Amino acid sequence: MPSPIYKRALLKLSGEALMGSRDYGLDTNTVREIAQDIKGVAELGVEACVVVGGGNIFRGVAGASAGMDRAQADSMGMLATVMNALALQSALEKLGVPTRVQSAIPMSSVCEPFIRRRAQRHMEKGRVVIFAAGSGNPFFTTDTAAALRAAEMNCDVLLKGTQVDGVYSADPRKNPHAERYVTLTYLEMLARDLAVMDAAAISLARENKLPIIVFNIHEPGAFTAVMQGEGRFTTVV
Ligand code: UDP
Repeated sequence: MPSPIYKRALLKLSGEALMGSRDYGLDTNTVREIAQDIKGVAELGVEACVVVGGGNIFRGVAGASAGMDRAQADSMGMLATVMNALALQSALEKLGVPTRVQSAIPMSSVCEPFIRRRAQRHMEKGRVVIFAAGSGNPFFTTDTAAALRAAEMNCDVLLKGTQVDGVYSADPRKNPHAERYVTLTYLEMLARDLAVMDAAAISLARENKLPIIVFNIHEPGAFTAVMQGEGRFTTVV
């Protein structure tokens, strides 16, 4: 088995990635498949952590456009990510992977609060740490929270699991002429407004010289392959 080329990695999973073919909420089979791939990465000896989104349950912007106060709606969005984090923890533990959930909004009876040094210790001990509740602040996204946590945790790489195997010039599911980029610079990603990650997340990654790898989260074993430098993906540097 090829050795991993990264020591510590953060995977950003959007809420939609956990939905499977459903329109809303969680699909337990999909969550299990993703957990299986995370297990493969942990078995390679990579210290892995995850930031989960919440868009499969609630998005602050949707609440605000329906008349709610934006900050209040964002709090609901962050709570949605905690539900996803607990579902992923359950799936990982069923596979025998030691896991801790840390929430940016303290919720001490269900998970740990976010404590950076404690999270680092968990990872050194081989535990997968799932970061929930985004950054803990409204008006941010979990993409930005992922770049933030990856920088704080001294990760070598930030992975964004999407529905397709990289960044394309157009949506490959709609446009057969769409081309996949093998590499992109942060500035190209920002200038072309490629809608893979928000601008704040890309800027934060750029400032911290954190490479971003975009890959297909639904291809079994893809996360493990990427950690070994194999498979199809786009690297943003
Ligand atoms: N959110 C927030 N602050 C953060 C991260 C997330 O307020 O630091 C809220 C925001 O309302 C967002 C929701 O949580 O819409 C769910 O996160 P996101 O939309 O990023 O999830 P994803 O699209 O990855 O599923």
